[in-house]
Amino acid sequence: MIFPITDLLDEQDSGAWVEKYFHPQGLRCPRCAAPREQAREFRRHKRGGVDYRCYTCQRTYNLYTGTLFAGSNWEPRRVVLLGRGVCKGEPATVLAEELALSRQCGSRWRKRLQANGYVMLSAKALPDRDTETDEMFQNAGEKRRETCRSA
Ligand SMILES: [Zn+2]
Repeated sequence: MIFPITDLLDEQDSGAWVEKYFHPQGLRCPRCAAPREQAREFRRHKRGGVDYRCYTCQRTYNLYTGTLFAGSNWEPRRVVLLGRGVCKGEPATVLAEELALSRQCGSRWRKRLQANGYVMLSAKALPDRDTETDEMFQNAGEKRRETCRSA
């Protein structure tokens, strides 16, 4: 059974969460770095997204400008659920069903998020000497070696 989890998440809370994680310094104009307070609402989308227009340089931007989701019209709650599902290692079929996507689309978004994660991965060694192998390969898409079992 698939729960209607997408419908149960609050759109505003999800938007605030996306902004916090996608724009840790706050949503700003991508051209002149003016804060959102120095922009006006330019356009509202059917699905609830808002485009802002910077007072200083007239550039339009939104919550997803400069992110992996730029150009998409995803509702923030769907972005939250996609990120959650990928972090949990949900199969693409489950992601697709929860987010009302085709299986190919779910798989494609999953790969994009994972590839983006690799790009942003630190080159430094892990600080913990006791890091478990599972932590290192979680969601990496790599297959684990067969477990040795005694006969
Ligand atoms: Zn600007």
